[in-house]
Amino acid sequence: MARYDRKMTSPSLWLEGLYSNVDKYDVFGSEDNFQVKVLDIPSQVGNEIVFSGRIIDPRMAHEAFLPDPCDQTTASNPIIARAIANFHTIIIVRNAAELSETISRDDIIVAKFSPGQNENKYDLQSGDFVKIFKKSDTNSNTNNINCTSLKDLNFSAGTSTGVLYGAVNIPFEDISAGQKSFYKGTEVANGRLPSDILASPWSVTNDYYVPQNDRKGRPILFIQDLIEPFIELCKEYYDEFNAKIVINDSYRTYERQVHLDATSKYAATPGYSNHGWGVAFDVNGTNVCEGGCSSSKSIERFTSPIYTFLDQEGAGRQGFMNPPSLRYDGKLPESWHWENITVRNKVFDKKQPEPEYPIIPDGSEPQTDT
Ligand SMILES: [Zn+2]
Repeated sequence: MARYDRKMTSPSLWLEGLYSNVDKYDVFGSEDNFQVKVLDIPSQVGNEIVFSGRIIDPRMAHEAFLPDPCDQTTASNPIIARAIANFHTIIIVRNAAELSETISRDDIIVAKFSPGQNENKYDLQSGDFVKIFKKSDTNSNTNNINCTSLKDLNFSAGTSTGVLYGAVNIPFEDISAGQKSFYKGTEVANGRLPSDILASPWSVTNDYYVPQNDRKGRPILFIQDLIEPFIELCKEYYDEFNAKIVINDSYRTYERQVHLDATSKYAATPGYSNHGWGVAFDVNGTNVCEGGCSSSKSIERFTSPIYTFLDQEGAGRQGFMNPPSLRYDGKLPESWHWENITVRNKVFDKKQPEPEYPIIPDGSEPQTDT
């Protein structure tokens, strides 16, 4: 299926694989800090700042194998420049408050890289910001028409999250790919829903039982039609557990789905997730085993109090169900994922292509589901 093909061709993973050989010569020794050129406009999400960066060490894969997207020949073609930028690395500033200066495009910063999986020397999917090494020359930056074209490509992830995860895995592919549909007569695309059809339950009521944000500090968002049932669900949950329901994720933009697809084996193909239709949430807390349930197939997740409560022996609550393919005996068990297909099918129609649900699994990060 497409999602596995996507994994196989993930450029970042492919680049990491090259280090299997490099490692033998250990050219890096114990180095883990490298200079990185800032490729796009940093965006803040919660307490973090993220941007895509190009490692400018000639021994590293970016310099060895990837053109600089700001180079004249490259940047003159926005689509190619975008695609090349996507082959680069996400740099994360973990604590934005500690920054004494603003990070700008073309700045050179120092980032720290951790060991990769499968004995690769470095994880090139992302690195941690260490310090600013050299601010970009303002004059040359202004005059760098080629690199400015990247600025135009710096798409907004929508009003819902303001998150840009542009640095991963959209290789030479139409970024508007994915399911299209009509929401009450207006054409819309999965993960690109207009902000006026989305709503936050908190903006409707800030009753004691309604959570304001998800666990990462993002507003919880659904299509408007699901706000009322979700608020009811919150109330039932509070009555049961004497605590607010904790949500890990709700509406997901196309860009964030791309990011997840590149970093998690649980994510649905971008453009096909029910998170992208604003009808799904990932609940926190089904991980109740002693020491934590690292496996999504762990039966304890599916017999946990939260799962049992939400599932109601398969009846679900307020229309939110853990779908067949994601149940304990399903293709890809995900105890945390709940979605409302009834309402989805009522308000969205003429989907093209036809939805692949339920065979496409759809979920998020079990690692953080603690
Ligand atoms: Zn999910």
